[in-house]
Amino acid sequence: MPLHETGAFVLRTFTIKEADKVCVFFTRDAGKLRGVAHGARKLKSRFGASLEPFTEVSLVYFQKEHKELVSISNCEIVSSQFAEGMSSEMLGVMHYLAELVIEFIPDHEPNERVYKLIRATLEALRQIDDADAKERNEKLPANVRYFEIWMLKLAGFFPHWKNCGACERDLTGQATVWLTNEGIPQCSACSGGRGEELRPLVWRTIYEILTQAPLKFLSSPRDARSIAQVGNLAARLITRVLERELKSYEVLDRLRPVEYAVT
Ligand SMILES: [Zn+2]
Repeated sequence: MPLHETGAFVLRTFTIKEADKVCVFFTRDAGKLRGVAHGARKLKSRFGASLEPFTEVSLVYFQKEHKELVSISNCEIVSSQFAEGMSSEMLGVMHYLAELVIEFIPDHEPNERVYKLIRATLEALRQIDDADAKERNEKLPANVRYFEIWMLKLAGFFPHWKNCGACERDLTGQATVWLTNEGIPQCSACSGGRGEELRPLVWRTIYEILTQAPLKFLSSPRDARSIAQVGNLAARLITRVLERELKSYEVLDRLRPVEYAVT
């Protein structure tokens, strides 16, 4: 049986049998995969804390033919984000982000951009976790929205954003952008005023999400109302693709975008 070695992020673990854990990883070389860690629940497990969610690890595993679960041979921590003192809110966010990856990214398909997105998002979350309450309150929702839009984009479910979906006019500087039921942006002329009206700032915020690295995006002040509207759009697209709401979404009470009346 060939051994494989790759960088990976732990997305989720659950217990099977008395002493074993099953872990879902997003690996750099093999995409998302599930592995069993024998004996991981024992007190003196050789896996230690390496199987905590969103730990970046160096993973060694072997795969039997036709077996869905790989067998984890070794798992070393490369970078552990929030070993101690992580708030329950931050934990809730991480579970939600992990669930997005689990739901949107197919198994066994390597995707370097997803890997980099996870790493960059963790880096941003670490900075946010260290910030004061005001900054946290502003940046945490913005970071979650950033991840949602990119997850939709990388999974192929986010529309082309820069140009009108009908006439391809550049939407930069348009007074209003209108979204069709499918979430496709259109100029005023093509939409005929039908659909969801997006303020220019909201369109621009999403445009910046799609064109800026996470830390750059988070370094500019963000208007809470625009971020909330981005969240509404993301939640709608996510629910449409999955045909249900994500389980972990409900723990994000404070981050849940509120409905704003279109003015
Ligand atoms: Zn148009």
